[in-house]
Amino acid sequence: MKATLIDGKAIAAAVRADLADEVSQLQACGVTPGLAVILVGEDPASQVYVRNKTRASAEVGIHAEEFRLPADTSEAELLALVDELNAREDIDGILCQLPLPRPLDDAAVIAAIDPRKDVDAFSAVNVGHIMIGDYTFLPCTPAGVMELLHRSGVEVAGKRCVVIGRSNIVGKPMAMLLLHENGTVTICHSKTKELAAICREADILVAAVGRAKFVTADMVKDGAVVIDVGMNRDENGKLCGDVDFEAVGEIASQITPVPGGVGPMTIAMLLKNTVTAAKRRAEKL
Ligand code: NAP
Repeated sequence: MKATLIDGKAIAAAVRADLADEVSQLQACGVTPGLAVILVGEDPASQVYVRNKTRASAEVGIHAEEFRLPADTSEAELLALVDELNAREDIDGILCQLPLPRPLDDAAVIAAIDPRKDVDAFSAVNVGHIMIGDYTFLPCTPAGVMELLHRSGVEVAGKRCVVIGRSNIVGKPMAMLLLHENGTVTICHSKTKELAAICREADILVAAVGRAKFVTADMVKDGAVVIDVGMNRDENGKLCGDVDFEAVGEIASQITPVPGGVGPMTIAMLLKNTVTAAKRRAEKL
């Protein structure tokens, strides 16, 4: 393969090691970062995500507290829990694993979390801060991609960047973060015409589509940096990204694998946001 691998697992481990040092310093000042993780219902994928987040928190010294609620929890009960966690001094971050089982409304819970504890950075207040470029928390997946670029020596300024996908949690904030670092950014989506030609102009191509092997070699410029956010299952049920990794790896200069690319970074950035929130608490002591 021609491309150099961007090793998300190793970079996430380095981020966690830095965070563990920061947590030790906070603990020396009497502050242990606290993360509340709410899981409603029994969705198996959500259970795995929550377990991974709790385990990674413990590794860096964050106190993670899980709140498991039955699928028939009412909105009033869920919001009462969020209120209680908003008021707790020892909880710096609140994360509600989404999507919630219907008829619960994801948006209502996001809106109820105190923006100062919104470590996923999904609330309208935090999204607004990202837009302005004056932020405390960054949404975890796009922030993880930026960290991968920084730690792999990829300069964004002046580069043509193409983001495929415009979701509120990945595509849109991803484009904004690249723009803040002076990339020239194009966002593509399902209505985009001549998608392949636009992608071929990219020096940095970020795929956040949710379709296995969507980005093929003919869509990639020679020497491009390719970041694969996708998490899909291929025809054999194996985890794969949005990029045809083998073929694109022969054209790109650097590429992220799936698994082991963006995924581990998302959790690392959640921990980083929690530590950031705890630092703000420590500053007030
Ligand atoms: P999403 O909300 O479904 O958004 C997908 C985006 O892709 C939409 O904007 C959609 O366009 C666009 N799209 C779909 N088909 C397209 C096509 N044929 N041509 C061009 N654009 C197309 O998904 P998401 O939440 O952003 O997640 C995207 C992927 O990243 C998923 O595989 C998800 O599992 C993965 N993910 C991974 C992590 C991680 O930690 N690694 C975190 C979050 C998400 P429209 O807007 O026009 O519909």
